[in-house]
Amino acid sequence: MTRFSSRARRILGALSLFIATTALAQPALVSDRIILRQVLQAMPKGGDLHNHLSGSVYAESYLRFAAEDKICVDSVKLTITQCATPEQLAADPAHATAIVPASTLFAPYSSLYGQMLDALSMRQFRSGIESGHDHFFNTFGKFSPVSRAHVPEMLTEDVWRLASENVDYVETIFAPDFGKARDLMKAATPGQSMAEARAAIMQSGQVPPIIAAARAVIDDAEARMRTNLNCGTAKALPGCESTVRYLYELHRGVPLQQLFAEMVVGYELASADSRVVGLNPVMPEDSYISMHDFDEQTRMFAFFHQLYPAIHLTTHAGELTPGLVPPEGLRNHIRDSVVIAGAQRIGHGVDVTYEDDAAALLSIMATRHVAVEVCLTSNDVILGVSGKAHPLRLYLAAGVPVALATDDPGVSRDDMTNQYMRAVQDQALDYTALKRLARNSLEYSFAEGDSLWINHKYDEVAAPCAKESGGAKTSETCSTFLAKNTKARIEWRLEQRLRQFEASWK
Ligand SMILES: [Zn+2]
Repeated sequence: MTRFSSRARRILGALSLFIATTALAQPALVSDRIILRQVLQAMPKGGDLHNHLSGSVYAESYLRFAAEDKICVDSVKLTITQCATPEQLAADPAHATAIVPASTLFAPYSSLYGQMLDALSMRQFRSGIESGHDHFFNTFGKFSPVSRAHVPEMLTEDVWRLASENVDYVETIFAPDFGKARDLMKAATPGQSMAEARAAIMQSGQVPPIIAAARAVIDDAEARMRTNLNCGTAKALPGCESTVRYLYELHRGVPLQQLFAEMVVGYELASADSRVVGLNPVMPEDSYISMHDFDEQTRMFAFFHQLYPAIHLTTHAGELTPGLVPPEGLRNHIRDSVVIAGAQRIGHGVDVTYEDDAAALLSIMATRHVAVEVCLTSNDVILGVSGKAHPLRLYLAAGVPVALATDDPGVSRDDMTNQYMRAVQDQALDYTALKRLARNSLEYSFAEGDSLWINHKYDEVAAPCAKESGGAKTSETCSTFLAKNTKARIEWRLEQRLRQFEASWK
């Protein structure tokens, strides 16, 4: 176990009493940011509830995958791409010669390597002609040619890196059917009701093979991740003890018929495979289709929620700012996601103060225990929202549960520890608040089974484990309860780890 130095203990003491927003800005304490980083890295932080699998992988890995796959990069457009065919070379020699094997990036003095890293992530990004928002979202298309073939390596990197900073539960957002759901929209006919369209897709006979293939992708990724991490051997790496769950990735910025077909597959997959705990619609919320179709998309969620009440839903909502969309676009996305679509968590929720009757909305979220996945780095680099402009403290003051999340740690080149750093330095949260956020990240997870806690109260332990002393040994009643309930089990593990962590600085 890590034993902290007296200096680290002093910082932790300061953290626990952290009230003044300026304390860490004092010159004498600036150097202690180094210690703060070490302390927060060592702190068990529970789970990451908002984590896009492809956005969690570093550009360096994507370039390595491209070289391994013997494909190319476009040295002008700065994207990973298939190599030029002889026909393309003949038709457009100038463009085709700009396409070079990815392996050439690793040659000495290659400036293209650095340019590609910048293009595939927020590395060294300086806002200019291209905004942070556009650069961020544009990265996904630049590495997509290699992401499909490397899911096991991507999962390994994501889970290992989070576990290395003491985050050992992750709900990663990922579509293991690789877009096959899209083809199913042809089975429905324009003008059909939602019930008719769903029935037509189900009757096409194409859903079961897509589900089977998607489950096989997850099986393979998990098995190969465990091999990559040397799990079960003396050389096991961080991540072997982690619990991984999946949120089926839907796309907001596509035609309604396609999104509908994705929903059919997503809800069926989540019903068939307990590792897929829910769904989450992604893509920029401010795009034309996302804004134009929002109300209809919400009605579609409401339809599926009635059919599949046990399947969880979290939605990106309120990842917007004034000016990015007209004012009326800021008025209802969070509320409608919660009230009509039945979302149990909200991703981002940045524009909450612009919603109609925001106070009542916050009260609804607090009463219904709808948690917000707060992604401080992502909101800063995509939306330019940070510090006092961020609604994190507003949510906390309203009693809305909050969990910190990374969103796309590979693209933003950041980690969960830095979310906690920002929470301390920019949002003035103390250790008690951080601990609550860590616990929230498991309590409001979609992990299956009962909670360790009664009514979300972190001082009321569920009856089977209520009499435990907190030591390593647990009664048979409690052990049986933990074995049956994943959520309680991961929460129990976090409590044990928090006790060890706190003991190291007392
Ligand atoms: Zn996201």
